[in-house]
Amino acid sequence: MSGFTRDHLEQIDALPVLGKLKELAEKTAALKNELAHWAPEAERQRVCEKHGNTTPIDWDASAHATAKVRLDLGNDQVCRLVHFRCQKCVADEGIAKQSAWLQACGVPANMLHCSFENYQVRVANDLAHAKKFASRKKGCLVIRGEDMGVGKSHLAVAIMREIGGGIFVTNDMLMVQIRKEYRQNGQVGLTTKERCIKTKLLIIDDLGTADGGGDVLTSLHTILTARHGNKLPSVRTTNMTEEQIEDYVGKRVFNRLDESLHTCITLTGESMRKQARTAYFED
Ligand SMILES: [Zn+2]
Repeated sequence: MSGFTRDHLEQIDALPVLGKLKELAEKTAALKNELAHWAPEAERQRVCEKHGNTTPIDWDASAHATAKVRLDLGNDQVCRLVHFRCQKCVADEGIAKQSAWLQACGVPANMLHCSFENYQVRVANDLAHAKKFASRKKGCLVIRGEDMGVGKSHLAVAIMREIGGGIFVTNDMLMVQIRKEYRQNGQVGLTTKERCIKTKLLIIDDLGTADGGGDVLTSLHTILTARHGNKLPSVRTTNMTEEQIEDYVGKRVFNRLDESLHTCITLTGESMRKQARTAYFED
C-alpha cells in the first residue's frame, strides 16, 4: 500500500472545507466587532483585586464564549465578555500547583502559593535575612509581627519551599496533637514530638497563642531543646515581644533559643489580610 499521494489529494474537494472555514472566520470577526461596540467602557479593563493589575478584554475568548452562550440559550442578544487573566494570579496558581508537598508538610491551602518571589517586602532586609537563613539551614529564625497578617507566615512558608520539606504547625495545633497522643498512651507510632524533633525544618506558627500547661509545655521545651542541640533549623512566627516569649517558654529554654537565634525579623506595616481575603475566595 502506498501512502497519501498526489492522486488522493486531487480527489478531495477542498472547496467546501475552505468555504466553511472562511464562513467561520467571518462570523467570528463580526461577533468581535459587535462585542467591541457593545462592551461598556467600565468593563473594558478588569482590575485584579489581589494584585491591582489591570487586564483588557480577550476578544477571541469573548467571541467564543458569546457564540457558545447564544447557542445554549437560543438567544442572539446575549453577550459575554472574557478578560485576560492577571499574570501574577496565573503565576501564583502555577506555584501552588507545584506545591502539593507543602500541603503534606502541614501548610494550609491558602498559603501554598507563598514564595520569596511573591513576597511583598515589609521592612528593610526582611527578605535578605529569610533567604540567608534558608541557605544556612541552622539555628532559629524568629519572625515577629506587631499585627496579624503582616506576612510572617508567608515568609515562613517561603523558607520551607526553599529548604524543601519540614513540618509547619500552629502552636495551637501542636499542643492539641501532643495532648491527644498523651491520651492515646503510647499507642501511636512516631509521635508528633519525635517528628518535630527530627524534621529538617520546624515552623511553629503563632508561638505563644496556645495555652500550654504542664506536660504539654514540657514537650514543647523538649522539641526546642533537642533541635537546638542538633543545630536543626526552626522558624517561629509570633506576635509576642521577647519578654512575653520568655514568660511563655520559660527562662531556661529561652536562653537556649537566644543562643541559637539566627535573626529576629520584625515586620511592621498594614495588614495584608484584606488582600488575602479577596484571594481566598478566588477559584
Ligand atoms: Zn492577580
